[in-house]
Amino acid sequence: MSKTLFEKIIAREIPAAIVYEDDLVLAIRDINPQAPVHVLIFPKKVVPRISEAQAADQPLLGHILLKAAEVAKKLDLKSGYRLVINNGADGGETVPHLHVHMLGGRHLAWPPG
Ligand code: AMP
Repeated sequence: MSKTLFEKIIAREIPAAIVYEDDLVLAIRDINPQAPVHVLIFPKKVVPRISEAQAADQPLLGHILLKAAEVAKKLDLKSGYRLVINNGADGGETVPHLHVHMLGGRHLAWPPG
C-alpha cells in the first residue's frame, strides 16, 4: 500500500513545519492555512478517517484531542479556536489519514460553509 501524505511527512520524506511530536502523534502547520493559526494533528498510526476508527483506537483518539488542547496553549490561542474533523467526500476530506484541524487567531463564523 502506498503511504499517505501524512505518513510521508512522519517519515520526513516531505517537509513540514512541525509544531509538536511524540510517539503517537504529529502536529504540523497546514500548507494552505484557513486562519492565522491552522494546525493539523494526526496519529502516526494510519486510521483513514474517524468513521473507520475502532474501539481499540479510543486511547489514541483521546490523546489526539488532549494534545490538540496542549498545542493550542503553546500557540497562545487564549481567545478560542476550533477543532474540525472532515470525514468523507461530503465532509471535505482530501487526505485519507485521520487528522484534526485546529483553526484559530481570528473569529470563526458559525455555521461553517
Ligand atoms: P482535509 O481536506 O480535511 O483532508 O485536510 C487536508 C489538509 O491537508 C488540507 O487543509 C491541506 O491544506 C493540508 N495539506 C495538504 N498537503 C499538505 C502538506 N504538504 N503540508 C501541510 N498540509 C498539507
